[in-house]
Amino acid sequence: MKDSNFIIELSHISKSFGDKQVLDDVSLFVKKGEFVTILGPSGCGKTTLLRILAGFGTSDEGEIRIDGKDITNVPPHERPVNTVFQRYALFPHLNVYDNIAFGLKLKKVKEDEIELRVRKALKMVGMTDYEWRDVNSLSGGQQQRVAIARAIVNRPQVLLLDEPLAALDLKMRKDMQMELKDMHKTLGITFVYVTHDQEEALTLSDTIVVMSEGKVQQIGTPTDIYNEPANSFVADFIGESNILNGIMLKDCKVQFLGREFECVDKGFGENVPVDVVIRPEDIYIMAKTDSGMLEGTVQSCIFKGVHYEMTVTTPDGYEIMIQDYNAFEVGQHVSMIIKPSDIHVMQKERTCNTFEATMIDSTHVEFLSTQFVCNEQAGITGGEKVEVEVDFEKIELMDNKEDGMLVGDVRFILYKGDHYHLTVRTFDGDNIYVDTHDVWDDRDIVGVKIMPDDIRIKRV
Ligand code: ATP
Repeated sequence: MKDSNFIIELSHISKSFGDKQVLDDVSLFVKKGEFVTILGPSGCGKTTLLRILAGFGTSDEGEIRIDGKDITNVPPHERPVNTVFQRYALFPHLNVYDNIAFGLKLKKVKEDEIELRVRKALKMVGMTDYEWRDVNSLSGGQQQRVAIARAIVNRPQVLLLDEPLAALDLKMRKDMQMELKDMHKTLGITFVYVTHDQEEALTLSDTIVVMSEGKVQQIGTPTDIYNEPANSFVADFIGESNILNGIMLKDCKVQFLGREFECVDKGFGENVPVDVVIRPEDIYIMAKTDSGMLEGTVQSCIFKGVHYEMTVTTPDGYEIMIQDYNAFEVGQHVSMIIKPSDIHVMQKERTCNTFEATMIDSTHVEFLSTQFVCNEQAGITGGEKVEVEVDFEKIELMDNKEDGMLVGDVRFILYKGDHYHLTVRTFDGDNIYVDTHDVWDDRDIVGVKIMPDDIRIKRV
């Protein structure tokens, strides 16, 4: 949806480096004066998107408009934006004043105007009286303020900030977060902020754009993103969650943890596999009653400053996380209540692995650049294109990569109450989705094995 209110319009931006696609059809519309945060794990394409917006990089496809003007091919210094980087990139041989004045001097702005603007910018960032200081004598936080002053002195319409607080210690980061929020209010300009820190995003932003693997997963207010995550990736990335496999039995009725629950979701159809997300603070826990409620046994209880965090196992062997102001002892039998409105039901992105494949002969099929033995396929000839399906739990992972038919590394591990759902990324960049009871770590190198009986071949 477009609107004259939008200062930034990024439409269908795609970008690849070599054969690796880093941004995949990203669209984003930002309102004047909004504080928008692009949030996602390392490598998801946040910085690439910001650099394209700043003009330091180009997109392969898509269009960028600022204030209604197409700036897709406009060089960085002619765009009405300024960027603050993670590393402050101050000139070490110039003092604070000259660092801030640098751009204005280049633009041949008059001396008295430069002085006025530099002083105003210093005041904005709380660094009045520091103008003659050597930048090398400043703390990290003070240097970052100078970097921000240097960006806002140009009066950009849009300020781009790429993890500007990442190099600061926790206390300084928290202080600077508050100051940035105040600065944003006072300046009234649009901020586009990049971070991998979900708490920072929730604290600062009017709008959060959650990205993963070069794609936008969800755009919304911090409350929307936290309370109504669009998929299990967002739920897992933003805060703690119980993410469980479920079956939507019919409208307002979902089965998970081996029981049926009332929920508020509709329109999924009947008997459809879904992901169910429940925040740990939304499960009410009490000493065991005989009312037929969900039951369990406390396995661990840790004090977290304000609340207690407990893991509870159900009689069916599911493990759930609960946060509560009251502590329940390890071994205690408890009952639990989950309100229908606290059960978030999400469509599953996929229910099994699907690979494009080619038959080699009637008992061999090639997919993921590897030949696999399959059960005899009557009437299929070599060279025929087919589709292969493999269930998540039929993919076997091996410690010893030589034992597998192909090799990859483990990513995006999601605990689902009684098993892990994870992705193995092959060295060719393909994804294999796996359900397993074994514990793997992020980036473990594994061998992958698929048995002939588990390969379902479908003619296309
Ligand atoms: P981080 O928080 O770690 O900076 P990010 O989400 O900002 O991560 P990007 O820096 O945008 O991610 O990088 C996305 C992917 O593109 C990464 O896999 C990165 O290695 C790759 N990449 C970025 N710039 C280049 C480049 N100039 N040439 C090749 N690959 C690149």
